Amino acid sequence: GPDYVRAIAPYQGGKPIAEVAREFGLDEAKIIKLASNENPLGMPDSAKQAMLAAMGDIGRYPDSNGFDLKQTIINKYKVPADWITLGNGSNDILELAAHAFVQPGQSVVYAQYSFAVYALATQAIGARAIVVAAKDYGHDLPAMAKAITADTRLVFIANPNNPTGTFIPAAEIEAFLAKVPQDVVVVLDEAYNEYLAPELQYDSIAWVQQYPNLLVSRTLSKAYGLAGLRVGFGIAQPVITDLLNRIRQPFNVNSMAQAAAVAALNDSAFLQKSAQLNAEGYQQLTQAFDAMDLEYVKSYGNFVLVRVGSDDAAGARVNLELLKRGVIVRPVGNYGLPQWLRISIGLPQENAAFIKALKAVLS
Ligand code: PMP
Repeated sequence: GPDYVRAIAPYQGGKPIAEVAREFGLDEAKIIKLASNENPLGMPDSAKQAMLAAMGDIGRYPDSNGFDLKQTIINKYKVPADWITLGNGSNDILELAAHAFVQPGQSVVYAQYSFAVYALATQAIGARAIVVAAKDYGHDLPAMAKAITADTRLVFIANPNNPTGTFIPAAEIEAFLAKVPQDVVVVLDEAYNEYLAPELQYDSIAWVQQYPNLLVSRTLSKAYGLAGLRVGFGIAQPVITDLLNRIRQPFNVNSMAQAAAVAALNDSAFLQKSAQLNAEGYQQLTQAFDAMDLEYVKSYGNFVLVRVGSDDAAGARVNLELLKRGVIVRPVGNYGLPQWLRISIGLPQENAAFIKALKAVLS
């Protein structure tokens, strides 16, 4: 295979509960997983019902064009059908963008400490990564605009960002979009958008109208609670979606996932409940970090990045001790943050169990 494929470091996901149970001799039922920014409420009931109803037709192929799901997105976001690309998770959208717009040897710009899949998608196609130094653990958009070169074809921005949880105010994104050359596609990855407080929300759909080079990506994996079903979507003008739709797999979103996504997108009560629970869990975790004198990055997502020591072995060490106590969180050494752990916000009792274990480990 090509050298650039051999050079890829595999994606490191959250450790599965069953694996931790076996490795550490623990009871699966007692293990707490706060490692993958999942919704601690699980899937909404409305989506479960819809999914089960769709099961009767599982002998048939899914609707390759996702008619009902697109209709739901059209109603919710007020966009035309040809602005939408459905994805097998939003990861699919990110990868499709790299495949559609970048040739081997051309460059892709993204920020230090931003989502791991940007690097993977860039490397998988033999493109060159231009990684721009973070500012206060978040995106430095003026520096990213300056970093764009003649061969740059794509920029990835996550707002809020994973794994740091930082947020870019709308005015900064607008200024960035106005500066970026029109032949560079900007992917604005809004995986955690639904957790933003109302006063921080902004109208990225209006930007799509204004900028034919903007692709906004969304997911059903976080606030909507459907991570295991793999549904995401991209919104952009047809100059972009037409290419994404040509190269995507024809049946990239399965029929049960499509049905569940329709129900979840219409379930505003569940969304509100998830955001509320998340806001309370954020207070619970950060108050404990304050009390323990631990530094953390102010987060706008459903997770918090916390510094658990001042040596570069701290993250791995504390992570291992937490695993022994049945608590799975995410070490972020692979992101260049070896002194930190990323904690997904769970149910109140899960957060409490994590805090108790962390206190025991650090005392
Ligand atoms: N973007 C960001 C910033 C993420 O954190 C994640 C999930 N870790 C994704 C995209 C992809 O999520 P999914 O493929 O489940 O939609």
